[in-house]
Amino acid sequence: MAQSTIEYDHIEQFQTTVYGDVVRPDDAEYDDARSVWNGMIDKYPALIARCRGVADVIRAVEFARENDLRATVHGGGHNVAGTAVCNDGLVIDLSEMRAVWVDPEERTAWVQGGATWADVDHETQAFGLATPGGVVSKTGVAGLTLGGGIGHLRCKYGLSCDNLRSVDVVTAEGRYLTASADENEELFWGFRGGGGGLGVVTGFEFELHPAGPEVATCFVLYPGERAGEYLRAYREYVSSAPDEVTTLSSTGVMADEEVFPADVVDDLKIGFLGCYAGPPEDGEKALAPLRELGEPIADFSATMPYTEFQQLLDEDYPDGMRYYWKSLYLDGLTESAIDRIRYWAETAPSPLSTVDVWELGGAITDVDLDETAFVGRHAPFLLGIEANWKDSANDDVNVEWVRDCIDDMRQFSDGSFYLNFPGFFEGGEAALESTFGPAYERLIGLKEEYDPEGLFDLNRGAKSAD
Ligand code: FAD
Repeated sequence: MAQSTIEYDHIEQFQTTVYGDVVRPDDAEYDDARSVWNGMIDKYPALIARCRGVADVIRAVEFARENDLRATVHGGGHNVAGTAVCNDGLVIDLSEMRAVWVDPEERTAWVQGGATWADVDHETQAFGLATPGGVVSKTGVAGLTLGGGIGHLRCKYGLSCDNLRSVDVVTAEGRYLTASADENEELFWGFRGGGGGLGVVTGFEFELHPAGPEVATCFVLYPGERAGEYLRAYREYVSSAPDEVTTLSSTGVMADEEVFPADVVDDLKIGFLGCYAGPPEDGEKALAPLRELGEPIADFSATMPYTEFQQLLDEDYPDGMRYYWKSLYLDGLTESAIDRIRYWAETAPSPLSTVDVWELGGAITDVDLDETAFVGRHAPFLLGIEANWKDSANDDVNVEWVRDCIDDMRQFSDGSFYLNFPGFFEGGEAALESTFGPAYERLIGLKEEYDPEGLFDLNRGAKSAD
C-alpha cells in the first residue's frame, strides 16, 4: 500500500483545481484505478489524477513538480511492462479523454490522448476511413503510436506513427505545444517511435485512408506438426504478395474449447491472420493462397466489416490475466529460424502462449530511417513471443520460457527489439541504446531539453520497473 507523504491540504487544493477525480490510496476506487491490463503488474501510486482535458493535465504536471513526484501517463493501460503506473508517483490518467474528431474532407482525425483504437475505428469508419492501429481494439492509441504501431494496414499505409501529422503535448514544464513536421520538428521525430517519456500527448492528429466498410480477411489454422512446412510457404507467399496484403503467423496450442474440436484442442497449431487493404474481391483472391496451404483445422476467413476484424482478437486478451511479451527483429526466416520457432512454440508452458511472426516491409520501408525515431524498418519480420497464462504460481516458468526463447533466437537477429513488446525492460538503458543505435543520442538530447529533471523518467524502460 502506498504511503502518500503529500500533505493532505495540497491534495485537497489540487482536487479543487481539476475537473477530474484525484484518487488517493484510501479511496474505494484506488485498486481499480491503479490496475492495468496486465495482471502481473501491481503498483501503488501516491495519487491518480483522472484528467478530463488539457487544463487538468497542465495542473497535474504542475502538481507533480510542486510536490517532487515523478509522473507516469496512463493512455490505454495496455503496456505489458505496466509503464502507465508507478510506485509512489503521480499517475496522469487520460482514460476519460477518449474523444475523436474526424475531418472527412481533409481525411484527418484528431484523437485525444486516452482513446483506444476501438474509439478511432468507430468514428473514422463512419466515413469509410481508417488509420493503421493495432490488431486488438482495446489497446491505447497513445502508447501504441508512440512506440511505432504495427497493425493490419501496415504494409499498405505504414506504421501508426508514420501516419501522424502532429501531436499536442503538455511538457514537463507544463507548457502546451504542438509538434509536427513544421514546428518543434525534433520533438515530433521523437514522438514517432521513441516511446514517450517526453511529455503528455493530449492530442494526436492522424492521416486517414479509405478502408472498409468491408475488408477481405484471412484467419486460417493448420496442424502445428507441419508448422515448418507452412512457415516456409508463408515466407514465399509474403515475398511476392502486394502491399495491400498484411499478415502475421502465430504458432502455439491456442487451446480454446469453444473454437476447436476436442480431438485437436490441445494440439500445436499454426495460424495465419491478415487482411487486404483494397476491394474485397481482389483481397479474396490475393489471400486465397494462404488458405490453400493444406487441410485446415479451422478457417474463419471472410469478408467482414473492418471494425469487426479489428476486434477479432479482443476476447483472447482479457484484462487482468498474466502476460509477458518480448520481441526481436529477425534478419529473415531462414530454415534454422523456422525450426527454432516450431521448437519454442512446442515447449511453451502455457497452452495460451504463441510464437508470432509479423510481416514487415511494404510501406514501412518507404519512410527514411532518420525520419522517425522508430528503428525496426530494416527488418523483414518481427518475432513476437507471447506468454499468456492464468495462474500466478506459473509466473516464473512462463517468464523463463520467453527469456530462453529470446536468447536462442538472437542468432537470427541483430538483437534489436520492438519497444512495444519489451518484456519488463530488464535490459535497461543498455538494451535501449543498442536497439536505437544512432537514434538513442537524439532521444537523450530530447529528454535533456524537454524533461531535464526526469519528471517522466518512469516512462522510460530502464526505470519502469520501479
Ligand atoms: P499505456 O500502458 O497506457 O502506455 C504505454 C506507455 O506510453 C507508458 O509508458 C505511458 O506512460 C506512455 N503513454 C501513454 N499515454 C501517453 C500519452 N498520452 N502521452 C505520453 N505518454 C503516454 N502493438 C502494436 O504495435 N501492434 C499491435 O497490434 C499490438 N497489439 C497489442 C495487443 C494487446 C492485447 C496488447 C496488450 C498490446 C498490443 N500492442 C501492440 C502493444 C502496445 O502497442 C503497447 O502495449 C502500448 O504501450 C499500449 O499503449 P497504451 O496506451 O494502451 O499503454
